[in-house]
Amino acid sequence: MGAPVGETQQAVRPQLQGVAPAPGVTEERVWPPADVQLNDLGQGVSWSKSVTQPGEWVGILEWHVCKDPDGELSPGGVYFQNAPEWMRGPRWTVECEDPLTISPSVLCRTCGLHGFIREGRWMPA
Ligand SMILES: [Zn+2]
Repeated sequence: MGAPVGETQQAVRPQLQGVAPAPGVTEERVWPPADVQLNDLGQGVSWSKSVTQPGEWVGILEWHVCKDPDGELSPGGVYFQNAPEWMRGPRWTVECEDPLTISPSVLCRTCGLHGFIREGRWMPA
């Protein structure tokens, strides 16, 4: 398991807790969830921090408009080497936290979006 460094890795689709509509209310959820702080990478791609309960930074969600007819942002889980085991999927190496640089590249399995996050920018592969 786990691709060697240098190969492309696919972001996993996380179980995100969107804010569920209250009973009786139709589709009035907040999206992305209100606690998600998006950092713009350019090229229509953003990221937000994934933090565990003790406050450890263990990965990011990579957001882009995927195959969504409404143009809604979809998150992909990109987890770092220090992520806990229950966060399933490949692990990325953080080369720099600020500006964010990680390796290897990130691929969306759904729409094929593929690029590198380098120095806080999205660089199409
Ligand atoms: Zn996609």
